[in-house]
Amino acid sequence: MIYELVPTELHDEFRAFHHDLENITLQHIEGCPFCGENSFYLIRSKPTNTYRCKACNKYFTAATNTPFNRLTPFNWLEIIFVHRIKNKSYQFIAEKKLGTSLEKVMRRDHAIIDFLQQHYSSLHKWYTNQKQATLTPTLSEQHKIINTKIMTLLNEQTPVCIYCASTNTTKVGTRTCYRCKHCRRSFNLLSDTPLNRLPRPELWREFIDLLVAGKNNIQIQKKLHLNSNTVSRWRSAWCEMMKRWDCEALATWCSRH
Ligand SMILES: [Zn+2]
Ligand SMILES: [Zn+2]
Repeated sequence: MIYELVPTELHDEFRAFHHDLENITLQHIEGCPFCGENSFYLIRSKPTNTYRCKACNKYFTAATNTPFNRLTPFNWLEIIFVHRIKNKSYQFIAEKKLGTSLEKVMRRDHAIIDFLQQHYSSLHKWYTNQKQATLTPTLSEQHKIINTKIMTLLNEQTPVCIYCASTNTTKVGTRTCYRCKHCRRSFNLLSDTPLNRLPRPELWREFIDLLVAGKNNIQIQKKLHLNSNTVSRWRSAWCEMMKRWDCEALATWCSRH
């Protein structure tokens, strides 16, 4: 029984969350998510039951105003949640349980985490700590790849000139700028990438470690003494860069705010 895997003091929250998931899966509506009234009519039932409130006239589904909006089929949510509690990997859930992509499983797990954060803080804390301890092999491999790429990038001494392909190049300054002694032009290895003009390269690896550890923007902001705009800009720049470096799964993992 799944309850045995959850600490006793979390059983109330667990039960309540389970009930929420059940309502979403069964598309059971307790009231209009906008005004709370409970008189509404069914507009259509495919692909999802969509209702219209008689009081405020707004349309809604069982997942409206939740992080699960549009994440059908809704019964996957419970399957993912339960298997994550059993410490099954995303790959296992994607391939063996649902026959879907890793990204789809991760997107739903992130929605679960967001929902827990909003409504069940103790369960959220337990669920996310447990998850960090079991970062899946793909994610930790991709984390290593990104680290190596950053190290290589920042320590590059004589990169190939982007204009004439000569390797007779030299570093200019402390960033990723170089000058070609052959064609005498200057170039930046990061121009045309999301990292162009991103400051403080000495913090990049630590920043990525925090993203991978699942820290939110406020936690990262405090830890690295950066302002909130910088943190959210860095997060999206790095997620974009991870995709370019073929680390899609890690990008999806890190894209949650
Ligand atoms: Zn309403
Ligand atoms: Zn050149």
